[in-house]
Amino acid sequence: MNIILFGPPGAGKGTQSEVISQKQSIPAISTGNIIREALKSGSELGLRLKQYMSDGGLVPDEVVIDIIKERIKKSDCKNGFILDGFPRTIPQAEALDKMGIKIDKVLEINVSDDIIIERMSGRRVCETCGSSYHMQNKKPQVEGICDKCHGTLVQREDDHPDTVKNRLQIYHKQTKPLENYYSKQGKLTVINGDNKSIKETVELVLSALEA
Ligand code: AMP
Repeated sequence: MNIILFGPPGAGKGTQSEVISQKQSIPAISTGNIIREALKSGSELGLRLKQYMSDGGLVPDEVVIDIIKERIKKSDCKNGFILDGFPRTIPQAEALDKMGIKIDKVLEINVSDDIIIERMSGRRVCETCGSSYHMQNKKPQVEGICDKCHGTLVQREDDHPDTVKNRLQIYHKQTKPLENYYSKQGKLTVINGDNKSIKETVELVLSALEA
């Protein structure tokens, strides 16, 4: 099954896509993670993208479209995949359709802006493997240390409050129109993540996939 998961930054897409990935044995593909890897490697692409990411803006459509094209050609995607953070604009969604990729389900996680801002300030990520934690809701066993690889947990530059507000504005303007795009295609399920823990939304996401 080919699945798209979208929602505002901080809606828990990373955790939800990891759970779906394990349950359905299909890879979770996060364009954000792929781009962060490119940044870490110091490649030319990484340096070019750094500026867009640090102030919370989107990287150009053609760059992420190329990244996705290459990634879904890989053999682990032959039984399906979950896209987390792609598409994020209508041109990206159209590009996916033009590639002839059949999307089975699109899940939108809706969480209000106030809750997102509160959540994001507590988010920490492992600087080595990218695993995500939260200072209140998903604490690591040892403060500041990743459970999986023992790397150091840091606040992402784009999780700082002003940047989050900017990211939310961009989300409403550029990504939210995907709701209408996929609703017209009859593929959309909206999940209300307000006042719910990430764990509860994971359950809702899994039942939406079984429906
Ligand atoms: P994420 O981890 O999904 O929140 O992505 C982090 C950052 O990577 C975003 O704020 C964007 O700068 C960039 N990014 C990730 N996916 C996309 C995409 N599909 N289109 C444009 N920019 C993206």
